[in-house]
Amino acid sequence: MDQSSIDTLRAQPVLPKNHIIDGKSVAASDGGTMDILSPIDGQVLTQVAKGTATDMHTAIASARAAFEDKRWAGQPPAARKKVLMKWADLIEANALELAVLGVRDNGTEIGMAIKAEPGSAAGTISYYAEALDKIYGEIAATPSDILGMIHKEPVGVVGAIIPWNFPMMIGAWKLGPALAMGNSVVLKPSETASLSLMRMVELAHEAGLPSGVLNAVYGEGAVVGETLALSMDVDVLVFTGSGATGRRLMEYSARSNMKRVYLELGGKSPNIVFADAPDLSEAAKVTAGGIFRNAGQVCVAGSRLLVEASIHDEFVAEIAKATEIMRVGDPLKLDTMIGAVNSETQLQQNLGFVETAKAEGGEIVMGGQRILEDTGGYYMVPTIVKGVTPEATLSQKEVFGPVLGVTPFETDDDAVRIANSTIYGLAGAAWTSNLSRAHRMVRDVRTGVMHINTYGGADGTVPLGGVGQSGNGSDKSLHALEKYTNLKTAWIKL
Ligand code: NAD
Repeated sequence: MDQSSIDTLRAQPVLPKNHIIDGKSVAASDGGTMDILSPIDGQVLTQVAKGTATDMHTAIASARAAFEDKRWAGQPPAARKKVLMKWADLIEANALELAVLGVRDNGTEIGMAIKAEPGSAAGTISYYAEALDKIYGEIAATPSDILGMIHKEPVGVVGAIIPWNFPMMIGAWKLGPALAMGNSVVLKPSETASLSLMRMVELAHEAGLPSGVLNAVYGEGAVVGETLALSMDVDVLVFTGSGATGRRLMEYSARSNMKRVYLELGGKSPNIVFADAPDLSEAAKVTAGGIFRNAGQVCVAGSRLLVEASIHDEFVAEIAKATEIMRVGDPLKLDTMIGAVNSETQLQQNLGFVETAKAEGGEIVMGGQRILEDTGGYYMVPTIVKGVTPEATLSQKEVFGPVLGVTPFETDDDAVRIANSTIYGLAGAAWTSNLSRAHRMVRDVRTGVMHINTYGGADGTVPLGGVGQSGNGSDKSLHALEKYTNLKTAWIKL
């Protein structure tokens, strides 16, 4: 990856895009389109079809027909594996093009995007491709005159609703296991970042995925997302996004066919630094990356820093030092470490949280303001606020932006109590040289993933799922396959 290749790709126009239904490019049924703005400069990047409820019904019908005639589920596992492996290869071969397109659409800094988006998506698709012919049914322990068999079957039609922060990575977390199990899928990307994910869907068809197996509809959540979630013909709904939308999806399921709903929601993840951390300056550097990369728009971001009181001032100074050298700016420059905030709305929300934190007694250590406004884009200085109480808004509500709240603690019990004092339970970390304390933190902090002496970077071999109001079910690892599988019992009298 070099700067001139990136600059060449960013200069290319982005052609208007349609839905992909039954393997074809399809315009909105009423001809509607919507503008896609780039957070880099606030300018219109392109137009995409603005989906209608009719478009979504057409896509669901296409997925249903593909599932019922077994054009995908009925293929031998080795054949499905070949297609998915080829798809992963195509994603890798087009990695830079996909990453630059995605960055123009959502503002993630390119250094992170290249790994987290096409890199991770290709890895995820090949992981599930390799797994799909190693999935066995079971024979139950029955009396000798009975054969009890447990078959693992695809669920049918999967609806997948995706957010804007890592569209390809999160899209692949759903598409990989869903397609590996033989399901058909209807995908609803975010209205504010869809272009790279839709290009990835095109590549699936180039790899040989049969038409109708993977359909994708652009449009607003309240229109096409709601139609998908209310459909009587969708068997499982998988979602990553905000808690408010997740709550609605559960209601839509109850109001329609009681489809299974799996939610990956927000977090307010505690990053706990003890005085006996192995290396405080390394902890500060990783902590800064763990909250500020992608402008804090990371579900597992360590947005609450809990620091043992005896090292509080020293550690806050270290983290400010580590943050000051993180260059904020044009996400398509290789030396940028923090890119653009995804939208003007998101930026204003972030700034609002800073004002509330100040009003509630928080003290700004650094940041708190918008910068580079003359570019037309949406940029914010990474912000550290100290003196944040566990009850403060900044400790309780997800910002989803580059804002870190710092809270001191005195004892291990104190740290655990504060860590567990939100509605969320997505991720967390503890920094310590004490092995027993490390294991106690893993045991006692209520999260889906707990890091020790690091933050982030858990790869596809381990599950990511939340507890509390951070969600249910898991993405990644072989456990994710369970969401896309029905168990069927055969009880046979011999
Ligand atoms: P969002 O809930 O606003 O939107 C997510 C998706 O839901 C979009 O595609 C949107 O169009 C759709 N949607 C919105 N309203 C809908 C409705 N009424 N019916 C159906 N679909 C609807 O979330 P966002 O702002 O795009 O994403 C940020 C959130 O995602 C944050 O809370 C973040 O923590 C969370 N997130 C979680 C994980 C995880 O793995 N747990 C990963 C990334 C992001």
